[in-house]
Amino acid sequence: MDNKNICYECGKESGYHEGFWEVGDVHICNECFDKFYALCDECYAILPKDKIVTLPDGSQFCRDCLSEDYDLCADCGQLVSKKVLVNGVCQMCREYYK
Ligand SMILES: [Zn+2]
Ligand SMILES: [Zn+2]
Ligand SMILES: [Zn+2]
Repeated sequence: MDNKNICYECGKESGYHEGFWEVGDVHICNECFDKFYALCDECYAILPKDKIVTLPDGSQFCRDCLSEDYDLCADCGQLVSKKVLVNGVCQMCREYYK
């Protein structure tokens, strides 16, 4: 095993059993990945956490996928699927005002 990977963030070498994440041209160890990166549930892109949005149900999306499928409720500000938005308002808010 001489093709060791070096973590781009912390400089750690990959251990024998340790798989590193490939992020673009660089490798990231699991610890740094947890700290700084996340995986989009929709397109599986690996992106820095500030480019990933975590929904209340724990799923994570990049901004590209989000703008296609999700939007903010105009009323409660929650990120919800565009399918449940009517006039920009989520189902929960609509029922509340019924
Ligand atoms: Zn690292
Ligand atoms: Zn995505
Ligand atoms: Zn709402």
